[in-house]
Amino acid sequence: MAKMIIGGEAVDARSGAVMEIRNPATSELVDTVPKAAAEDVRQAVEVAHQAFRKWAETTPHKRAEILYRAAELCREHLQEVAVLETKEQGKTLRESQLEVGRFIENLEFYAGLAPTLRGEYVPLAEREKYGLVVKRPVGVCAAIVPWNFPITLMGSKIAPALIAGNTVVVKPASTTPLAAIRLIELCNQAGLPPGVLNIVTGPGGVVGEELLVNPLVRKIAFTGETVTGRHVMEVAARDIKRVTLELGGSDPMIVCDDADLDAAASAASVGRFFNCGQACLAVKRLYVFDNVYDEFMSRFLPRVQRLKVGNGLDKDTRTGPLHTAKQREEIEHMVEDAVRRGARVLVGGKRPEGEEYANGFFYLPTVLENVPHDALMVREECFGPALPVFRVRDLDEAIELANDSKYGLGSSIWTRDIGKAREAAERIEAGYTWVNNLHIAYDEMPFGGFKQSGYGKEHGIEALDYYVEKKSIVIATTPVPAASAPKKGE
Ligand code: NAD
Repeated sequence: MAKMIIGGEAVDARSGAVMEIRNPATSELVDTVPKAAAEDVRQAVEVAHQAFRKWAETTPHKRAEILYRAAELCREHLQEVAVLETKEQGKTLRESQLEVGRFIENLEFYAGLAPTLRGEYVPLAEREKYGLVVKRPVGVCAAIVPWNFPITLMGSKIAPALIAGNTVVVKPASTTPLAAIRLIELCNQAGLPPGVLNIVTGPGGVVGEELLVNPLVRKIAFTGETVTGRHVMEVAARDIKRVTLELGGSDPMIVCDDADLDAAASAASVGRFFNCGQACLAVKRLYVFDNVYDEFMSRFLPRVQRLKVGNGLDKDTRTGPLHTAKQREEIEHMVEDAVRRGARVLVGGKRPEGEEYANGFFYLPTVLENVPHDALMVREECFGPALPVFRVRDLDEAIELANDSKYGLGSSIWTRDIGKAREAAERIEAGYTWVNNLHIAYDEMPFGGFKQSGYGKEHGIEALDYYVEKKSIVIATTPVPAASAPKKGE
């Protein structure tokens, strides 16, 4: 049985309760993990709080040394962790390997930013005084992570938090704790002092909720659904806790009539069906210029038809199962809703048949056209392997439809015309616009949604700002008696 890590120790829930982790491809039991209650979370937060002061006082260089060592250790165990992730999450082994690799790169990226954690010297009007602006860590940070990318989304929180001198309590999704536990074990082995990095497993409504209300938690880094994110923000507001929210998305991709249609077709297929469509940055709405629509579809649809669905551990598999039965039902419901409103299914639209699919949550990669723009799969986030494709007259119509969404996470345009690319990049309301490029986030660049897709940024040097408080210090080189203190600014 896997265990939580609190204060550097592998522990069970005090109650002894456990949760089963099952493989979404086969429904087989993979392992069990502790089912924590609020008292277990309070203990983890308390030890993180106790470890904070000493960790905050270590130099960023020392912290970086440990993160580099952690990265090295995780790299040695990459394959083992990737297999574990495929078993608990369902994604293909290749996708898991990429994900663990990104986690490691993330540790190294923030370790490399250690020298940037410096402040400013500020000259003041009075000659015998000067100001300093220093960056202080925030305190205990909660990292609340979803099940679709349980490893990278943990890394994008813990790496900047730790390098900035914070301590962390991780709460993985209830269904994907195993690979996360293993990596945190390895990070602790690399030399993090006990209590600096902890992980607590259990239901969101219990473990997550205690992290939101616990007064010792100073910052919440959350990735998940917009509905949960709204709740996180509301509860955090009571204690004015710092929050960053990375929420749902409904990314548009625009294919213009001068685009490289083969490259665009390939990007649409990977962009939509990677991770079985369960990515915040997936292509979720495709807008193709009318005059190249048929030609584009003749290149795109065969690619989708060729995607081999199966168990993520089989080497031929290109797309695994959906993560849960509920997730599959949600996609089926969205496809049915679109068809009821007049949509046509061009590929897929049902579960695959055959013995190998009997016990998993499989659904065929699906493409639809004629989907009304107020259908559920357009209005809400379509978090699975189904893609509505729309014909558009021109760029104006494409941008208008792209912006007709409550979400604003990613977006892309495919064109050889720099003017069109610029127009789209400036007018689309989203945190990212890729030009002739796949929807993927880069460690070096800030990532975060506009509108209801989130608040604050992860990745890039910018993410560090969300893990520090800027503090102003005024130094008087000659002590100033109270009576002569200036009234200015009072
Ligand atoms: P979710 O909101 O159901 O759960 C996310 C996490 O929050 C889980 O760990 C869950 O246990 C926890 N949680 C649930 N209730 C809670 C509560 N009351 N208090 C505190 N924590 C609670 O999301 P999910 O279904 O796991 O993930 C899929 C969603 O995540 C999609 O909407 C997807 O777009 C989004 N996502 C966003 C990004 C991004 O960077 N913008 C990245 C990946 C996924």
